[in-house]
Amino acid sequence: MVETLNQFMRRATGKPSVWEKKPLPTREPDGTRWQVDRRWWLLTVPLAVGFAFVWAVVLLTYLLPPFEVYGNLLAGTPTRNQFIFIAAGTVVLSAEFLFARHLFCRFACAVGLFQSLAWMGNRDAMVVGFARQRGADCNDCYSACDHVCPMRLKPRNIKRQMFTCTQCAQCVSACETTQKDNPRGALLSWVSDAAARQNEAGLRAGKQRN
Ligand code: SF4
Ligand code: SF4
Repeated sequence: MVETLNQFMRRATGKPSVWEKKPLPTREPDGTRWQVDRRWWLLTVPLAVGFAFVWAVVLLTYLLPPFEVYGNLLAGTPTRNQFIFIAAGTVVLSAEFLFARHLFCRFACAVGLFQSLAWMGNRDAMVVGFARQRGADCNDCYSACDHVCPMRLKPRNIKRQMFTCTQCAQCVSACETTQKDNPRGALLSWVSDAAARQNEAGLRAGKQRN
């Protein structure tokens, strides 16, 4: 949801969310260009409202038997309370999808919070690793990894600052694409176990030196 709507909003405004301060570069990691076009709003808003409606209906099926909810909707005869619930849910979720999105994921989602706590507690867990010793190679890049992250993180940061990483791998893919002609390969990759601990220790040491 976040990634899909981010893409549409980026096309409409040049930014993945209304809260982003600066527009993103109008290039993809593979070098192709895209353009901002306000007409994308005509798709972005209906899509957000459509997603919100679907979510509101699904939420209602947690409270009432799904056959009753879907049956009434298909017949066009939802009860008054069902109508109020779906209408209110659609309004609230539309606002969430248009304005909050990744901010909700980062700061308000209980599921994400507990997953992140479990992940942070396991120092061997898989994490995006950065080949810091090769950091000079980033000079020729337009910081593709930062621009593609749907959670608006800095993928080269230490794990503590990546608390809300969803491990979507878009930063890793972007780095592999920008570095496809680099014989030493990408600077971002998945690491785990001892490599995850080393990566974290190396990053910390590097930060202290800097
Ligand atoms: S895997 Fe990379 S792009 Fe995806 S959320 Fe984590 S840091 Fe961001
Ligand atoms: S880590 Fe990869 S994608 Fe990120 S700035 Fe460096 S070269 Fe570019």
